[in-house]
Amino acid sequence: MDRAARLLLAVDRQDGCCLWCGRRFGALIPPTTDHLVPRLKGGPSITANEVAACRRCNTDRGHTGPIEWLDECRRRPERSPQTAQLVTLLDELDAELDRTGGRRRARQYLTSQLRRLRGRER
Ligand SMILES: [Zn+2]
Repeated sequence: MDRAARLLLAVDRQDGCCLWCGRRFGALIPPTTDHLVPRLKGGPSITANEVAACRRCNTDRGHTGPIEWLDECRRRPERSPQTAQLVTLLDELDAELDRTGGRRRARQYLTSQLRRLRGRER
């Protein structure tokens, strides 16, 4: 599956809305590929690590971790992040990385992000 097809899949999975701000994609708000585990942190270019984000969110997030960025979005009134969807995607990515093995750096990074998330739910 090529990059464009994976992006369409991500848009579909998110019901046509940006994961971080909740705005609906369209001609004025085109979707872009964003990575749950940033590529800089060893995040792979696979479906499970790719989400659809508007250009603004993608640019503003930069290499920020998904949980830190979620917190940041929650603090901003103009953004309504899809939190439940994000948690599901992170769990699925975790399972996928476990299944496929390797990518130790990405796995360690994701584990620390999930720990951060879970630590706060308790
Ligand atoms: Zn957005």
